[in-house]
Amino acid sequence: MINDFDFLQARSLTEALDILSANSDVLAIAGGTNVMVNMKRAPLETECLLDLSKLDELKTISEENNCIRLGAGVTFSHLLNWKPGGVIEDLMQPMCRAFAGPLIRNLATVGGNVCDASAAADLTPVLVALDASVELQSASDGIRTLNLVDFLQGVRKTARRKDELLTAITFSRPDADDCCFYYKLGKRKADAISIVSLAMIVKLEKDKVASSRISLGAVAPVAIRATTAEKILQGAILNDETIRACTEAAISDSSPIDDFRAGGDYRRQMVGVLVEKGLNAINNA
Ligand SMILES: Cc1cc2nc3c(=O)[nH]c(=O)nc-3n(C[C@H](O)[C@H](O)[C@H](O)COP(=O)(O)OP(=O)(O)OC[C@H]3O[C@@H](n4cnc5c(N)ncnc54)[C@H](O)[C@@H]3O)c2cc1C
Repeated sequence: MINDFDFLQARSLTEALDILSANSDVLAIAGGTNVMVNMKRAPLETECLLDLSKLDELKTISEENNCIRLGAGVTFSHLLNWKPGGVIEDLMQPMCRAFAGPLIRNLATVGGNVCDASAAADLTPVLVALDASVELQSASDGIRTLNLVDFLQGVRKTARRKDELLTAITFSRPDADDCCFYYKLGKRKADAISIVSLAMIVKLEKDKVASSRISLGAVAPVAIRATTAEKILQGAILNDETIRACTEAAISDSSPIDDFRAGGDYRRQMVGVLVEKGLNAINNA
């Protein structure tokens, strides 16, 4: 049973922020692909939905001085059709293709994916690997920027204040010679929620790893950096021994739960399989 609620449609970002600052009991809705599902499962904990879907200022992707800015209202279909080249495209394209199906991709926004803060969200591991930040805006304080790993505080918990909207996600363009790997393990190839996902960016210099960012999804309350694994890679030659040690470390960096999609032990094993697969792919590229 869906409870009664008011539905406000903002015509500008300023209007949306004013509505949020005047009323603490308002829930933003962008594509609605989480909100609508949730409201069928349990009564809405708000009496008012604020629709952001008409805010064109949130729907742009831009790049300036190698800094990419994804508006919060960019949909996964838009992201799939975006061709930034290099590592960004090589991570975003397979992630978008494995994200839900075309109908959901047409509605689901990047801002909704990040703000929903599901442990199994598919965009966040890619953004963590890109070392992304989020831009939050309120009527009273203007814009503040937080690193994504600080923004994501737990399952369905973020550092967003009730009077703030997430307006954009920003990250630097990786170097042209950086290598990357993405893989989403789900029960099906489409329309499946992640069991484990992996996004990694590795910089090789003269056969040695100069830097790496390894991000894992669905194996902790939020997308995480496998920092022990990254330390093992730092300065090492990417041979079988390093890959084995890095794989073991990535497994210990993860803390998956058992749920109806997969057991924790299986998820841990799959972290090892994916990290090994990714490092071998990068080594043989
Ligand atoms: C059939 C189906 C398949 C799915 N498959 C996948 C999948 O493969 N991978 C995956 O990661 N997810 C999947 N999802 C979940 C969902 O589609 C995504 O999380 C999506 O990105 C949510 O975006 P949205 O715009 O629809 O968010 P909404 O439902 O509109 O909002 C989600 C939350 O974010 C908040 N919010 C939205 N925008 C903002 C903003 N700009 N500022 C502040 N708060 C905001 C809302 O208040 C709400 O709490 C699936 C959902 C369905 C129904």
